[in-house]
Amino acid sequence: MIADSRTIRLLMELRGQGVGDTAVLKALETTPRDLFVPELLNDQAWENTALPISCGQTISQPVVVALMTQRLALGARMRVLEIGTGSGYQAAILARLARRVYSIERHSELLRQARERFDRLRLHNITTMLGDGSRGWAEQAPFDRIVVTAAASTMPEALIEQLVPGGVMVAPVGEGAWNQKLYCVRRLDDTYESEAFLDVRFVPLVPDDEGS
Ligand code: SAH
Repeated sequence: MIADSRTIRLLMELRGQGVGDTAVLKALETTPRDLFVPELLNDQAWENTALPISCGQTISQPVVVALMTQRLALGARMRVLEIGTGSGYQAAILARLARRVYSIERHSELLRQARERFDRLRLHNITTMLGDGSRGWAEQAPFDRIVVTAAASTMPEALIEQLVPGGVMVAPVGEGAWNQKLYCVRRLDDTYESEAFLDVRFVPLVPDDEGS
């Protein structure tokens, strides 16, 4: 497949913003983002912007997806947990770089659409669950990597416990829309170390008892 000019422009922009990992760039190049956005916004699919999807949620900005994925430093044998399937775009990127992806979403309509996209792209290594992802997925734990794509107000420590020792989680943390940072967390044996690396704006991580 030869990338068209919009794709090339986006990839160059991502490089300029610190995405140097060629495997990550390749995953973004080969995942048709237009399939993950509402049809009306199709012409904006290859722009470096977040876009609205159903249920009042958003598909993240490509540079944020790329920088989060790069930070995860995925290996081909890894098992990854994602919280917040949304459109399925981030999961599709992960599926190209890891062995198996587990993804949890609390909106059934979003999950239905995301699964259709995974089938269409023949991404058979993604397992999804409808429910509250803030508790993680105990039956499938531990995970080599965890990525959270909705912002928790405090560090989601319950998820860190579902990482293998040495495992990495990337998660946005902060109150409100304007005060969030992306953290890269490494689990040590009984503790963890974390580093904030980017200012971001994600939709909130909603506990299940709060409804939509
Ligand atoms: N990764 C997505 C981005 C989705 S936006 C993509 O690539 O498109 C964040 C998503 O997290 C929303 O779909 C929202 O419904 C979901 N979400 C919020 N709180 C959640 C929770 N407690 N459990 C599971 N999903 C949650």
